[in-house]
Amino acid sequence: MFELAGTRCPEGQKTTVSLKAGTREDGSPIEIHAVVLSGVKRGPTLLLTALLHGTELAGAETIRQVLDHVDPSALAGRVVGIPVANPLAFLEHAQSTLRDGLNMNRVFPGQPSGSITQRMAHIIYTHCVKAADAVIDFHTNSYPAVHWVIAKTAGDELGTKTEGMARAFGLTLGTQVQPRFAGLLFAVVLGPMMLFGCAYYPWAQLKAIGAFQYLFLLNPLTFVSEAMRLAVTPEAPQMPLALLALGLVGWLAAFAAIGTRAFEKLAIL
Ligand SMILES: [Zn+2]
Repeated sequence: MFELAGTRCPEGQKTTVSLKAGTREDGSPIEIHAVVLSGVKRGPTLLLTALLHGTELAGAETIRQVLDHVDPSALAGRVVGIPVANPLAFLEHAQSTLRDGLNMNRVFPGQPSGSITQRMAHIIYTHCVKAADAVIDFHTNSYPAVHWVIAKTAGDELGTKTEGMARAFGLTLGTQVQPRFAGLLFAVVLGPMMLFGCAYYPWAQLKAIGAFQYLFLLNPLTFVSEAMRLAVTPEAPQMPLALLALGLVGWLAAFAAIGTRAFEKLAIL
């Protein structure tokens, strides 16, 4: 039976394991919680981590949804989720740990007798990373952000597997573009998309440039920005609601169709 830090994780079940990394000033433990979904068939172990940086909340919610939706009784292998990898930075609303000033993302594999961030990293590395066949670490960008996957890909077997995972991750652009062109993708596609995506100005006011206004509808980010603007500052000039809804649904359907088809070709099943 799979064990994590000495805790047995029965097949077909969800088990929460508390990893003690240290002690607070009041004597209470500093714990990192790992949730293990143990499948009923043999298979690889996938580790998901988030909130190494204490302000990047989206990954924790992503992991929560995965842990809620994946049924261990229908799973081959295991999913280990650590929604809050750095509980101190999370509670302190800080990117790095305030106590020692360390960025957890830079201290792996950690040190068993180091400062608290190094010890937390060491606990995660020793018990979870070493037990995993693959690791996905979630981070969060500020708006306007484009989703991306960062992967180190050397030409070896590990690099090839990493590249496969990274490409399978990103729908549409991620699946269509080779990782080695990621820099070019940013300069040629993503940068201009953000600049001409109405993130910094309302689409309605572009009527000052005449028919060119409609060229901005070819940019999917325009609709995302307009929807965000409508939600946050409804008093600003708005795109007609019907056009906004049509654009969001249309682009979502198009990207989902293209991305899903490419994803199915790349996904390792
Ligand atoms: Zn981060």
